[in-house]
Amino acid sequence: MNKNVADLLNDQINKELYSAYLYLDMSNYFERRGLNGYANWYKIQAQEERDHAMLFYQFLQNNDCVVTLKAIGKPDKKFKKDMDVLKAALEHEEYVTSLINNIYDEAYKVKDFRTMQFLDWFIKEQGEEETNARDMITKMELFGNDPKSLYMLNQELAGRAYSAPSLVLD
Ligand code: MG
Repeated sequence: MNKNVADLLNDQINKELYSAYLYLDMSNYFERRGLNGYANWYKIQAQEERDHAMLFYQFLQNNDCVVTLKAIGKPDKKFKKDMDVLKAALEHEEYVTSLINNIYDEAYKVKDFRTMQFLDWFIKEQGEEETNARDMITKMELFGNDPKSLYMLNQELAGRAYSAPSLVLD
């Protein structure tokens, strides 16, 4: 595999694990707020990000690339209110989309079709992540200021269950 592409895929393991850490911090914020549904939502997000990291890890190993694990950064975003979390989540997903797009671009340049095919799943996934993050903001804007509605929103998010990613690498 092209070294630049392999290095970017290796870095992405770290970025996905950082994402998991960031979402766990968001879950932690909502747990302290007493909004257990929001806490559940972000805890499941964290699980998904861990799954993403494992997919990059497995893909590299399957392609006989050396994996180098690096230190995971401390989640350092400060949340003063609920909307700060929701906006930080969207901003972060847009950032991750740019990372995936960049790897795709580098793979495309060297005609690394296998990596491009692998990344196709993530391109679609990022579209869904951004949509979800925007929906969370819209609902909070519409209903967040009314305690009864916020209660209902929280209940809705409490119902989210974890499911493993549809992409499976043997
Ligand atoms: Mg991810």
